[in-house]
Amino acid sequence: MKISIIGAGIGGLTAAIALRKFRPDIELEIFEGSPELKAAGAGLALAANAVAAFDQMGVKDEVLAVSNVLDGFRILEASGKLITQTNNIAINRNLQTISNFAVHRADLQRCCWRKFPICRFT
Ligand SMILES: Cc1cc2nc3c(=O)[nH]c(=O)nc-3n(C[C@H](O)[C@H](O)[C@H](O)COP(=O)(O)OP(=O)(O)OC[C@H]3O[C@@H](n4cnc5c(N)ncnc54)[C@H](O)[C@@H]3O)c2cc1C
Repeated sequence: MKISIIGAGIGGLTAAIALRKFRPDIELEIFEGSPELKAAGAGLALAANAVAAFDQMGVKDEVLAVSNVLDGFRILEASGKLITQTNNIAINRNLQTISNFAVHRADLQRCCWRKFPICRFT
């Protein structure tokens, strides 16, 4: 079987890494429309489910090395009024995981790209 992935964004690259790891029998190719890999935007805030996924994909250490683990975060109304806040230090301790972290898109994309550097620029 052959699978073609359209787009070497974070979604396409992580799908390729996961497929290569869990279905090495499948032939994969990625087609990217941009002439070079450019991560749009700035930061991404991700949670424990992403940590678990990156762990399974074998890129957790690389991703966390370029990330900032968040001690906590607050969600505010536009006026500055507090809606909710989270103490990640306590959650991390209780669950023995990293519950929230922030990473620059370009750094994350680079980590994924290093694991799956085969891509056709269309
Ligand atoms: C302002 C903003 C903030 C966000 N913050 C967060 C956050 O904090 N946490 C979080 O989890 N998510 C966040 N998101 C959502 C997150 O950015 C997206 O879910 C994620 O980038 C989607 O990844 P993707 O690979 O599917 O798409 P993209 O990253 O958009 O990549 C798509 C790729 O496909 C290529 N492409 C498109 N069409 C074609 C084509 N026809 N042929 C070939 N190549 C093609 C593009 O060039 C691009 O490289 C945010 C989004 C925005 C806009």
